[in-house]
Amino acid sequence: MTFKSFNPPQRILMGPGPSDVSARVLSALARPTVGHLDPLFINMMDEVKTLLQYAFQTKNEFTIALSAPGSAGMEACFVNLVEAGDKVIVCRNGVFGDRMIQNVTRIGAEAVVVDSPWGRAVETHKVKAALHDHPDAKFLAFVHAETSTGALSDAKTLCKMAQEHDCLTIVDAVTSLGGVELKVDEWGIDAIYSGTQKCMSCVPGISPLSFSPKAVAVVQNRKTQIQSWFLDQTLVMGYWSGEGKRSYHHTAPVNSLYALHEALVMLHDEGLENSWARHKEQHEVLAKGLKELGIEFIVPEEERLPQLNAIYIPEGADDAKIRDYLLEHYNLEIGAGLGAFAGKAWRIGLMGHAAKSENVALCLSALKDALYQ
Ligand SMILES: *Cc1c(COP(=O)(O)O)cnc(C)c1O
Repeated sequence: MTFKSFNPPQRILMGPGPSDVSARVLSALARPTVGHLDPLFINMMDEVKTLLQYAFQTKNEFTIALSAPGSAGMEACFVNLVEAGDKVIVCRNGVFGDRMIQNVTRIGAEAVVVDSPWGRAVETHKVKAALHDHPDAKFLAFVHAETSTGALSDAKTLCKMAQEHDCLTIVDAVTSLGGVELKVDEWGIDAIYSGTQKCMSCVPGISPLSFSPKAVAVVQNRKTQIQSWFLDQTLVMGYWSGEGKRSYHHTAPVNSLYALHEALVMLHDEGLENSWARHKEQHEVLAKGLKELGIEFIVPEEERLPQLNAIYIPEGADDAKIRDYLLEHYNLEIGAGLGAFAGKAWRIGLMGHAAKSENVALCLSALKDALYQ
């Protein structure tokens, strides 16, 4: 038996992630691997921290790139901050809110679930009532950009309400970072995690993570030991910070961090606000074109994510057949529905590098062809 190198075609990724990775980021990956404690590499890690602070709009000293995907970023927030017996208010308006609940219950903590309809933002009045009814709740957790439904929640208001009740916030920003307004310090977010393969347009497998000084104090003053060795951030802190005295924790994904560095330099060059505006502009062009095709959005206009367009599959169209056709004839990937929307919705991503006019035009004409062929 012989094996050949794997050479995938050049797809256009307009699903829920991973998104298209630019040639610049891909070429950064191919640079020579250096030791993960090489002084040059440590300098680069410091730049990654500074650039992540910019992307998150935070001065948080504890801002790192976790060597694992977004799901591990989620787990890192919960296992470090939450202890058995703690009460956590968790907002659920899609698949990822549900995963937060599973994280909380596996710790042996109590999840107070606030349900909002799928395809809508988290209903702030319900969260307000939950905070009022549960004065002993220590944390409020929610997903800023629900990738499973395309809904954007009002993180600023939710954080403000949490602060009024002395609750720390745990926020999923996997799809929001770089794609929509996000201001960690101004809004007072305490623990936040993201992913590299959505609006950062980088390779999958890394999770940007940031804890406020308040959150770090909670981690440091725990009564019980953190159950996960790998995700225990008190051990990781020595690897990502400390002047010249970096200690080995695990081997960082060296080349993937080159890629993240390059993606962050590109975001910094463009400017965060410009990136948010570009996502919005491209979304508006796409929305207009979809309307002309008679296609309807799931989420009401004012709660829509520009970077993730969840639409109803038009009547009579075969979900899998259409997506196969787009892939085969146009090398174009769009996302299927997830959870309650499986078989009912498509998810068109306009994430990071993919949020550009050529992609929007291609997607609209390819969809038209696929639907009316
Ligand atoms: C993609 C995603 C995740 C999980 O990230 P992975 O890198 O796939 O583990 C978590 N939350 C949201 C909102 C996401 O979109």
